[in-house]
Amino acid sequence: MAGRPAGLVTRMSTGNGIRSDGTWRNWAGNQVARPVRIERPCTEQEVSALVRRAVADGRRVRVVGAGHSFTAIAVTDDVLVTLDDLAGVVDIDRESGLVRVQAGIRLTALNPLLHAVGLAMPNLGDIAYQSVAGAISTSTHGTGLGFRSIAEGVVGLRLVTGDGSIVGCDGGQNADLLHVARVGLGALGIVTEVTLQCVPAFNLHAIEEVLPIDEVLDGFDEIAGSTDHAEFFWMPHTGRALLKRNTRTTEAPPPARNRRHALRRRWKRFKNKELMENAVFGALNHLGRMRPSLVPRLNGLVAGDGRAEYLTTSYDVFASPRRVRFYEMEYAVPSGHGLEAFRRVQEVVDGLGRPISFPVEYRILGGDDIPLSTASGRDTVFIAVHVFRGTPYEDYFRGVEAVMDDYDGRPHWGKLHFQSVDTLADRYPGWEAFRAARARLDPDGRFSNDYLDRVLGPAT
Ligand SMILES: Cc1cc2nc3c(=O)[nH]c(=O)nc-3n(C[C@H](O)[C@H](O)[C@H](O)COP(=O)(O)OP(=O)(O)OC[C@H]3O[C@@H](n4cnc5c(N)ncnc54)[C@H](O)[C@@H]3O)c2cc1C
Repeated sequence: MAGRPAGLVTRMSTGNGIRSDGTWRNWAGNQVARPVRIERPCTEQEVSALVRRAVADGRRVRVVGAGHSFTAIAVTDDVLVTLDDLAGVVDIDRESGLVRVQAGIRLTALNPLLHAVGLAMPNLGDIAYQSVAGAISTSTHGTGLGFRSIAEGVVGLRLVTGDGSIVGCDGGQNADLLHVARVGLGALGIVTEVTLQCVPAFNLHAIEEVLPIDEVLDGFDEIAGSTDHAEFFWMPHTGRALLKRNTRTTEAPPPARNRRHALRRRWKRFKNKELMENAVFGALNHLGRMRPSLVPRLNGLVAGDGRAEYLTTSYDVFASPRRVRFYEMEYAVPSGHGLEAFRRVQEVVDGLGRPISFPVEYRILGGDDIPLSTASGRDTVFIAVHVFRGTPYEDYFRGVEAVMDDYDGRPHWGKLHFQSVDTLADRYPGWEAFRAARARLDPDGRFSNDYLDRVLGPAT
């Protein structure tokens, strides 16, 4: 803690980006902060006290979850807060499926705890490292036309507002605030507790196959309508895509015939999830960065031509380890325009004049009514583009963003984009409701930072 008053950082954590020199860095490594102090409250009262202290000092406050956003949404050089010590389960009602958790709990910790009592999150994104509050605050989502974002499953919240007051909201009290605060971008207050509507535990029957991209595009609408969770990853320069179809089931995984069979199954999963998607993929990306002309051929190796089928616990299928670091942009467009927008993204990739070594991902989700949810008011297709960390992305991402502008595209709040309040406000039917809630809960902009000033404008 060189150069910093002693005692301001109580304990270090490896999982939130806070470093032993008192700086902070996000997962992708493209956002850095040098906060004047880092607070690690253990109780809601301590959260309230730290906000009051910031008011007295004239400091702004930002909370960091797991630091997995690519944007500068969590960045501050004032007071940075981690809720890693407010990360427990408060209450589980197995009958109703209502689960109250402290806001800092990570999905990786929560999923097995839910499973142990016969419950599960209804849907997840493709990682589970996020904190619950971080995931809902940016409208984090998975895929499935009949399913919604994680925030849509929030039925209660407690938050500490701009003057340090503690507010509870659920269907009975402050229901108007709950409606807005489920996707709050950290701009409405510090969420201390979340009540989630969970579902009975389930398994997923997964089928993953590499197919010609044109075949996937031609059939995707039908597949998305008939499969619980469908998505695909197009591997640029190969003409191929990995199509994933996951079907919910309460069937148990078929028992292994013998020990050898069990080991072979485990090896196959390890090979796919750890070797192919992480170790080998990382090595090929390093090689491609040194010799870009090799990328199309390397992409062919990554895409492969295989098929995998397995049945296991839902969260094990939804979420995978992601050890190869990258930068990402993701846009939400009305579902009816998804395939057209995707074909135009293919043209952007092909017109770049340099090879892209990461896949383009395509997902679909049911609409919701949360004011700043990326799926607010419409069934939504999400198109995500990625590049390997340390490689240029601006021309690529700007090209894709220009396409998305034609469809009233909404950027994922936690993923890179170039929009501002002037371009965004008209794209959300509930923008005014959010603005009004922010003016009420945080009139002085205590929870603002440069990113929020850009995308939301001033608090009042
Ligand atoms: C490898 C990888 C894979 C990803 N996959 C997906 C995916 O499949 N689907 C998807 O939608 N997104 C995905 N994301 C994006 C990710 O889900 C979001 O960026 C999410 O917000 C990260 O959660 P976090 O806990 O790291 O939050 P952070 O990034 O730390 O913070 C995000 C925001 O939440 C706020 N916040 C955090 N805690 C609180 C609190 N207690 N009170 C108020 N505000 C708070 C922060 O201030 C900040 O504004 C992925 C990201 C990565 C790096």
